[in-house]
Amino acid sequence: MGAVLVNNIGKSFGKVDVIKDVSITVEPGEFCVLIGPSGSGKSTILRLIAGLEEATTGAIHIGGRDVTRLPPKQRDIAMVFQTYALYPQMTVAENMGFALRLSGMRKTEIAEKVKAAAKLLELDQLLDRLPKELSGGQRQRVSMGRAIVRNPTVFLFDEPLSNLDAKLRAQVRGEIADLHKRLKTTSIYVTHDQIEAMTLGQKIVVLRNGRVEQIGRPMDLYNEPANVFVAGFIGTPS
Ligand code: ADP
Ligand code: MG
Repeated sequence: MGAVLVNNIGKSFGKVDVIKDVSITVEPGEFCVLIGPSGSGKSTILRLIAGLEEATTGAIHIGGRDVTRLPPKQRDIAMVFQTYALYPQMTVAENMGFALRLSGMRKTEIAEKVKAAAKLLELDQLLDRLPKELSGGQRQRVSMGRAIVRNPTVFLFDEPLSNLDAKLRAQVRGEIADLHKRLKTTSIYVTHDQIEAMTLGQKIVVLRNGRVEQIGRPMDLYNEPANVFVAGFIGTPS
């Protein structure tokens, strides 16, 4: 059974069908990339999985549970956004522990989890800094740290590299790949960048206009694209 099952979901905003009959299975531990041009519905699918939007039709299962009507908090997911959205007045440690504090966890336990995540992300020397005292790459690592401390069943990433310059993008991309190798947390990663998709994805879902065009391993999409759209999208080096 998959860690995440998206079954025939549809989403309409008013009269506009934005997501049309999308089905995706993500295996436990798998790194799944959703790729497609701007407006193809990537963020909406991620928000449906996170519970930030409610599906109009279809069902979503996470870790074997039907979460279709559950609020985000009960879905056992953690999301990393393109804007790091750190609290400016809180230190790195406080930012990383904030969600745990809200959940009522004991201070000593929070401190342990934050320390472990900081070590993993090489943020251990920066725990007392404020976000404004960090580089862009470091901030993005703090936002990943915030996700890691919650030990979720699934990580959701929405274009986490898009606010970084080209050099930093390659570096943080490598860090995300390393992290997945070590933690093996099931991940769903949204991007419009084929290099990111091909290097990070074990499974790639190609989207256009709210529909799935093809799902496959990177080499399958490269060698046997289902149509001209997929060929153009996956084959073009950026
Ligand atoms: P992507 O992330 O691939 O760029 P989105 O999922 O953000 O695409 O958007 C897909 C389509 O849904 C776009 O046409 C967008 O305008 C529309 N859309 C997204 N959110 C809303 C909303 N809250 N209300 C109305 N339309 C929306
Ligand atoms: Mg988007």
